Amino acid sequence: MEKTKDGLRIYGSWAGNPTGHKEDVTRCIESVYGNERGAIPHQCDRKRGHGEDGLYCKQHDPNKVKAAAADRTARYEAENAVTNTKSDVWDAAEEVFRSQVGAGWELEQQRRAIGKLVAAYGAFERAKEHLKKLRG
Ligand SMILES: [Zn+2]
Repeated sequence: MEKTKDGLRIYGSWAGNPTGHKEDVTRCIESVYGNERGAIPHQCDRKRGHGEDGLYCKQHDPNKVKAAAADRTARYEAENAVTNTKSDVWDAAEEVFRSQVGAGWELEQQRRAIGKLVAAYGAFERAKEHLKKLRG
């Protein structure tokens, strides 16, 4: 980030406003964008006091930002696990069905197919439980 001679950060400098806005040392140093199109970055409006050297607001504290990203990843993976294990249950159920209607299946094959269904359903239930915990 560009800085003034006295070491203050400069926000939102562009051709139409080459000097931009000088850092307000009471506010969070994060550069944020408004929602409007072609928005110019500006300094976060919140008070600083969080993160390393207390330069960030609570929301932009880099550790919090990192933890939030890790939470999102974990939740995404948990949601995928629910989807995948559910599909495994259907596959296993189909196999059981085929073992019942298809001629020539040995009893042992049918037992294995049912065992697979029960295991798949257990994994599905655990995946749902895990996701529920992550969602709080
Ligand atoms: Zn902030």
